Amino acid sequence: MRNEREKLEPKKSGATQSKISPTGEKSHGVKYIGAHVSASGGVQNAVLNAVEIGANGFALFTKNQRQWRAKPLEPKKVEKFKELMETHNFSPDAVLPHDSYLINLGHPDPEKRKKSLESFIDEVNRVAQLGLVYLNFHPGSHLREISERECIQLIGESLNRTLEATDGVTLVLETTAGQGSNLGYRFEQLAEIIDLVEDKSRIGVCIDTAHIFAAGYDIRSREGYEKTMAEFDNTIGLKYLKGMHLNDSKAKLGSRVDRHHSLGKGEIGLEPFKWIIQDPRTDGIPLILETIEPEIWKDEIALLRKFWEERVQK
Ligand code: ZN
Ligand code: MN
Ligand code: MN
Repeated sequence: MRNEREKLEPKKSGATQSKISPTGEKSHGVKYIGAHVSASGGVQNAVLNAVEIGANGFALFTKNQRQWRAKPLEPKKVEKFKELMETHNFSPDAVLPHDSYLINLGHPDPEKRKKSLESFIDEVNRVAQLGLVYLNFHPGSHLREISERECIQLIGESLNRTLEATDGVTLVLETTAGQGSNLGYRFEQLAEIIDLVEDKSRIGVCIDTAHIFAAGYDIRSREGYEKTMAEFDNTIGLKYLKGMHLNDSKAKLGSRVDRHHSLGKGEIGLEPFKWIIQDPRTDGIPLILETIEPEIWKDEIALLRKFWEERVQK
């Protein structure tokens, strides 16, 4: 019924949207497709940059991602952000904010871990202030000073403390390429972290296609894609899937190197992105490009949207 109505009423941002509770169930038959857009000049600009490229979802940094300290969000900009979200019909669960690259919740040094934790809690509060529901982050790095197991333990502790100190935002662990000493390159590691989290209603996972590919998950064939998704479900659980980063990879399968490429121009190729878009398991979660040519994001989104239309018409 809802889908029928959506077809009849074209929306401002040109995409299928649905009215759902912001923190509730994933909405079915809806694809949130966008890119990690710039918030330069203020968070409100991220919404406009998303509109510009025909997106109905997006990612952003709510502060400078390479600095520890940030001044609080200005109330005027927060209001403008919310207003533009409404005007352009963006659902809060179509937005996947990303935290600062400096944060390491599993830092072996207690002082530095504390600094990370404080900064992370600040990021969660910023997200809540914007009326958003997710914060995407990288699990953490052991820096070759402690074991993977010890680092996972520390990450779990940091997450529990964050969840106790905040409200309403789901923390979304990103799969990594396993470059350097970064954890999260095996689904098992993410499952172990989730195991340690007390409030499992506020923890999720974002699959980055370039990262899992570099980590050794071969999604180039239909069979390999299905096997990877089944493995995700068996190891972590699909109910934890809260977002995807759609990136092709310059780096080879299993190289553990994090190098993104534009869709279809890298080692993964274009077809797997069609399977992802047409997969009901990716309904209602942000599907975000972090590809390397922002000037073609509009075309990449249109292409993904076309893949989606093809499925609908079947
Ligand atoms: Zn990331
Ligand atoms: Mn990513
Ligand atoms: Mn990356």
